Amino acid sequence: MRKVYLDHGATTPVDPEVAHVIYRYMVDEFGNPSSVHQFGRAARKAVEKAREQVADLIGAADPSEIVFTSGGTEADNLAIKGVARAYRKKGNHIITSAVEHHAVLHTCEYLEEKEGFKVTYLPVDGSGMVDPEDVAQAITDQTVLVTIMFANNEVGTIQPIAEIARIAKEKGVLVHTDAVQAVGQVPVDVERLGVDLLSLSGHKIYGPKGVGALYVRKGTRLEPTMHGGAHEKHRRAGTEGVPGIVGLGTAAQLRKDHLDEYTEHLIVLRDRLIDGILDGIPDVKLNGHPTKRLPNNVNVSIAYAEGESMLLNMDLEGIAASSGSACTSGSLEPSHVLVAMGLSHELAHGSLRMTLGKDNTEEDIDYVLEVLPRIVERLRKMSPIAPAQREEKVSNV
Ligand SMILES: *Cc1c(COP(=O)(O)O)cnc(C)c1O
Repeated sequence: MRKVYLDHGATTPVDPEVAHVIYRYMVDEFGNPSSVHQFGRAARKAVEKAREQVADLIGAADPSEIVFTSGGTEADNLAIKGVARAYRKKGNHIITSAVEHHAVLHTCEYLEEKEGFKVTYLPVDGSGMVDPEDVAQAITDQTVLVTIMFANNEVGTIQPIAEIARIAKEKGVLVHTDAVQAVGQVPVDVERLGVDLLSLSGHKIYGPKGVGALYVRKGTRLEPTMHGGAHEKHRRAGTEGVPGIVGLGTAAQLRKDHLDEYTEHLIVLRDRLIDGILDGIPDVKLNGHPTKRLPNNVNVSIAYAEGESMLLNMDLEGIAASSGSACTSGSLEPSHVLVAMGLSHELAHGSLRMTLGKDNTEEDIDYVLEVLPRIVERLRKMSPIAPAQREEKVSNV
């Protein structure tokens, strides 16, 4: 059976080149970067090279602005808790959006419940977009941080981060963006964006799991969340995860070298898949922004078909996709992102996310376009709410 992996938003395979580097830094160059002997110095050199590679990918002026973490989740936690606590005397207000990843949302909720912060969760429009004007309106003299994601992990909508950052800067407020989904897929440049903090993750860019990085603009104060040694210039204690870090560095280098061709490849496949689904299946709605969306993201709501049932049936035919985010699927709650975008619970439950990657081909897409309409038709035949007459378009879709 054909195997088609369309869940790169959940995780990507490790690039073989990256895997080789990781092996080397596990088996041969195993030193502790803090040791002064030659084993330690070799590891230190590799970590600092990786720091340069990551800085280079996101246009950071100085590699020392990169802090290695255990992943995107830790980078988000460090950015939000780190800034909130360091600037507590200035104020206690944070601005975020309703469609953030749980690494951001739950961190904000924690600060609200346990540490007396006030959080504004900005709404989004039907395409999942935050209005920069809402950010301007929400800022008070108590605001210490605006944290809005660069691109949404479920629907792929790309936010107007540069404009949001400009507004926040004018009022002297720091800006963080969770760019885990965007980095390596579209150009991300911290200088051009004007953000102060930015999160990224290894396993979303063909690097290993369990490693990520937080960009922290020079001069930004940050209260560490992890206490111990003086690692990462007192911003994140713990012996550096050298294999993961060199893996992340190599992955960053590869993404930078191949960015244009990668983006182009993804857009061709994405649009072929979107057009094929909209043409081949009646009563389907594309979720997210039609143009300001990630090159690899396809998210559709299929009326009268249940997301989890579609996933199971697709899996039986060798196709791996997801409904909502990996963290959301498996629970009965509809995706908070789709709900915030105004979708009915029915349509939110009938949503399917397919996220493409560098190894996908046109044949993969054509296979999905052959299999999916059949599955949908079968499920709709069993659905008690699907109208028998399929010719008529449903008005609320
Ligand atoms: C995957 C993801 C994260 C979490 O990153 P991990 O490295 O898995 O902890 C955070 N934010 C977004 C938008 C993501 O897609």
